[in-house]
Amino acid sequence: MSKSIICDMDGVIYRGKQLIPGANDFVQRLLSTQTPFLFLTNNAEQTALDLKLKLEGLGISGLTEENFITAAMATAMFLKAQKPAATAYVIGGGGIMSELYKVGFSLSETNPDYVVVAKSTSFNFEQLKKAVRLIDGGAKFIGTNPDMIDPVEGGNEPAAGTILAAISAATGKRPYIVGKPNALMMTLATRKLGVHPDNAVMIGDRMDTDIVGGMEAGMTTALVLSGVTTPEIMTHFPYKPDHVFNNVGEIDLAAL
Ligand SMILES: [Mg+2]
Repeated sequence: MSKSIICDMDGVIYRGKQLIPGANDFVQRLLSTQTPFLFLTNNAEQTALDLKLKLEGLGISGLTEENFITAAMATAMFLKAQKPAATAYVIGGGGIMSELYKVGFSLSETNPDYVVVAKSTSFNFEQLKKAVRLIDGGAKFIGTNPDMIDPVEGGNEPAAGTILAAISAATGKRPYIVGKPNALMMTLATRKLGVHPDNAVMIGDRMDTDIVGGMEAGMTTALVLSGVTTPEIMTHFPYKPDHVFNNVGEIDLAAL
């Protein structure tokens, strides 16, 4: 019986709008061998349906919404466990809003339990001021993911971490951030699969998020060199992955 798979997406399955060689073969082998798996991403803007449709657009078929866990879903799972049916002021897009609704949260700008921050492309001064005043007033400060920038066509664009930094600067408070590298995200993923971390493998392209998070959650780790990490960069970290592959197409599921 091969181990369950938790797999990063960007730099592993695709890069921008390009499918990585071997990725479709890998996914079809997961499906045909009935290996339990989840795709895990710090992206909190897109829903599981958006991601399923994105992969279909790249030629990967056979997936369902149940095959994905995003930082927005993980944040909603975490907050529901902390305080069911709570209220939140949200900076972010449809991804985080819909996940919070699904777990029974309601949105409020008056004494909310939480201020929840994800990437927002319409972020403005009024939202910044509101978040600062609500946190000053006692609302708990939560971030979906720490990424400062997202590489997009034409250069970088500010991401959730940059908005979190602005609110931190004004409040003097640090957010609790659910997404990678927080091992909580991996723990929520193994729990969703119903598998013990000893029997799960984290596959990703980043040493500072995927590999460290998988290691700290007690999982086997596999680095792929199809994204941001080169063999040289890999040696700069004080920890190493259990396996290294050029891309997911090379992975023999039974040998992990
Ligand atoms: Mg990645």
